[in-house]
Amino acid sequence: NMARIGFIGLGNMGGGMAANLAAKGHDVRAFDLSKEALDRAVAAGCKAAASAAEAVTDAEFVVTMLPAGQHVRSVYENEVFGSVPASALLMDCSTIDVASARAVNAAAAAKGIAMVDAPVSGGIAAANAGTLTFMVGGSAEHFARAEPVLALMGKAVIHAGGAGSGQAAKIVNNMILGATMVATCEAFALAQKLGLDPQTFFDISSKASGQSWSMTSYCPLPGVGPQSPADNNYDGGFAAGLMLKDLKLAVEAAQGVGASVPMGGAAEHLYQAFANLGGEGKDFSAIIKLLDGSYRP
Ligand code: NAD
Repeated sequence: NMARIGFIGLGNMGGGMAANLAAKGHDVRAFDLSKEALDRAVAAGCKAAASAAEAVTDAEFVVTMLPAGQHVRSVYENEVFGSVPASALLMDCSTIDVASARAVNAAAAAKGIAMVDAPVSGGIAAANAGTLTFMVGGSAEHFARAEPVLALMGKAVIHAGGAGSGQAAKIVNNMILGATMVATCEAFALAQKLGLDPQTFFDISSKASGQSWSMTSYCPLPGVGPQSPADNNYDGGFAAGLMLKDLKLAVEAAQGVGASVPMGGAAEHLYQAFANLGGEGKDFSAIIKLLDGSYRP
């Protein structure tokens, strides 16, 4: 049966997600500040709304896919809460700071509106293909309502815990990813300087205890391991600027609870240095060029 879904934020990720909901027969009322993004969503089967408030009027479900915490706070506080029926379920799929996620969820709860945070793992290709992984924070009851809708856009929907736990799981996971990518890149650079053939080192380490997802599923060297952005001049994939964003969120969250994250902090500084050299648009595995000294801005 067809659901009425208000969808706000139709960028690189949201565009494909909204298109998948429309393709599966749902009534998607879409809004984005960018007319271009909105036009693309309409071409993919969504209905254009004139504002975020209009998109959520009468909605059974609301999905937001916005850049950062400040956008999420402002869209919910200024547009959604005043227009959405109290019976709707709100799902914020953006990657934002844990504090903003908990604040917006608490504001929804105070108005008697159900809400979950549901950030995603998987990039633009997974958003387009409907193969994202959702990490969901909220009550068991709200998770049960969110799960079938999120499943229309993903291959896995996981309940991480209470409000904000989806964001916590997302940034902590990506902190591991950032740190292991840096470790893998500096290891390949060192291996080469020590005279090891990169393919031979890969064959050894990928079957030994140096193995990680960064090495075996996303090898940062061209021609070594599976197909990865390294084989495409580090274009596409997961932008270094987005990795930097997630590392900053992780370090900020760690400071908020007094956790010590020296490896996450080191990864943040290296991605910041890479971004300062103009690398933020490259895939995050391109950090190998900073570590092996070959980077030319
Ligand atoms: P994007 O910048 O392409 O899209 C964001 C969209 O939100 C833009 O189209 C923008 O116009 C719109 N927007 C901003 N403020 C708005 C407002 N007040 N009202 C309506 N629309 C507004 O970003 P993206 O790559 O789609 O990422 C979205 C979120 O997903 C981010 O939080 C990002 O960290 C996260 N994420 C991205 C990726 C990725 O690979 N791109 C992967 C996982 C998670």
